[in-house]
Amino acid sequence: MRHHSETHHAHAAPSIDSGLLWQHSFASLGSAFAVPTQPTALPDPYWVARSQQVSRLIGLPLDGPQASTLLHALSGNCAIAGSQPIASVYSGHQFGMWAGQLGDGRAILLGETSGQEIQIKGAGRTPFSRRGDGRAVLRSSIREFLCSEAMHALGIPSTRALCVTGSDAPVYRETQESAAVVTRVAPSFIRFGHFEHFCHTHQTTALKTLADYVIERFYPQCRTDQRFGGNPYASLLEAVSTRTAHTLALWQCVGFCHGVMNTDNMSILGLTLDYGPFQFLDAYDSTHICNHSDTQGRYAFAEQAPIAHWNLFCLGQALLPLIGEPSQALATLESYQHTYREALAAGMAAKLGFSHSSAPVEQLWHDLLPLLQAQRVDYTIFWRRLSHWAEHHKAHDTSVQELFVQPASIQQWLARYAQVLAPLPPGQAAALMRKTNPKFVLRQYALQMAIAAAQNKDFSLVEQLLAIVERPYDEHPHAQSWADFPPDWASQIVLTCSS
Ligand code: AMP
Ligand code: MG
Repeated sequence: MRHHSETHHAHAAPSIDSGLLWQHSFASLGSAFAVPTQPTALPDPYWVARSQQVSRLIGLPLDGPQASTLLHALSGNCAIAGSQPIASVYSGHQFGMWAGQLGDGRAILLGETSGQEIQIKGAGRTPFSRRGDGRAVLRSSIREFLCSEAMHALGIPSTRALCVTGSDAPVYRETQESAAVVTRVAPSFIRFGHFEHFCHTHQTTALKTLADYVIERFYPQCRTDQRFGGNPYASLLEAVSTRTAHTLALWQCVGFCHGVMNTDNMSILGLTLDYGPFQFLDAYDSTHICNHSDTQGRYAFAEQAPIAHWNLFCLGQALLPLIGEPSQALATLESYQHTYREALAAGMAAKLGFSHSSAPVEQLWHDLLPLLQAQRVDYTIFWRRLSHWAEHHKAHDTSVQELFVQPASIQQWLARYAQVLAPLPPGQAAALMRKTNPKFVLRQYALQMAIAAAQNKDFSLVEQLLAIVERPYDEHPHAQSWADFPPDWASQIVLTCSS
């Protein structure tokens, strides 16, 4: 564990000019929200991964003449001119229990540019580190980097990741690992837990400041919304519920399990946030628990949508001093289930090749999931093969049936599916399905292999996986093996909160 005094280590190096134009709207909310915090230097950093897409998004090339200065700046070794590093305070419910104050224990916000906040995670201790070392390990930083970009490419709202830098500096978890910093990018990193913090500590003025800030920047329509008695905070709660419901529906459609849906990991923008022991399902299993630390299965795959609703109740509770009327908050939260069901129905219909849901289409996937569950069929491969099958639905194409040990039930289901598809113009469903059913998801075993190579300083697999998950619907014929069944050892991988 790194020594505490390092947090306050002053920078000897002058600040570098990145050419970025900075703003600091969150920092300007004041000292109740965040504390100026300098990163701690990371010895001899090297590039592990860089995203061209995110570079372009914020206008910060990482491979140009400035590459080596940015390598140091994004590792916390020198300041970027115009940035204003801060750590913010939040609280939250973890595994259903009130956890009190948490805060950015290892994430430092540099500021915002082009409407995007830039945060370096793993850059040393902050005033909110509690007993932690403020560091992140290479393993978890690669996981966060690749999955952020994979989710974005799948059309799922997520924080983004610009790069990962690594160092041979040791970090101690269950074993000794090496340090890394992941640079995250999002319009805002505000969490449900930020609101919970100010409600719980009875700082009602700050609570209102925060809510007004979020409304003004991200939900301006709440200000003029005449529903909910014209209360903008009830309108905010509904808007956040809607975004959260959409994101959750997309998780379920693609088979994404977050693993740690604590309220401090819930984005006020409905973004997928804080990638820890996440997993894309291999074999379909609605009871799957990807986080070994989740002994009760609170965050099991099928629990995610109801847990998000529970988390929204926590947000509603936190906003209550501003909403005033508990019945108003409760009424607002009711919209969640409806929105979620509609979004899920639309998403599953699209996976089946239909541009909108209908009763027969809904019946199809309701009947399908138990078949996948009973025979533990690979979720991603099933949908991709079904997309090919839908092209012609000929009896001689048995690639879907082959996924089932006992194919009778799926044969009946396919016959019914063919009937529902029949009125559509030929090829229409398959064309949509190839854009809604990815050929590639970021499987656990692939991550594991890329991490093992990276721990030996070979970053080529990380780069290869990034190129694939950035275009998950493309065929990538040279990368066929990453679309195959996972190896047997994949099911033995154990993920915990350790990161
Ligand atoms: P997480 O499980 O990563 O979402 O983290 C939960 C809380 O613990 C957040 O407040 C983090 O900032 C904090 N935290 C996690 N790991 C560390 C660490 N190594 N050092 C300091 N704080 C940490
Ligand atoms: Mg977190």
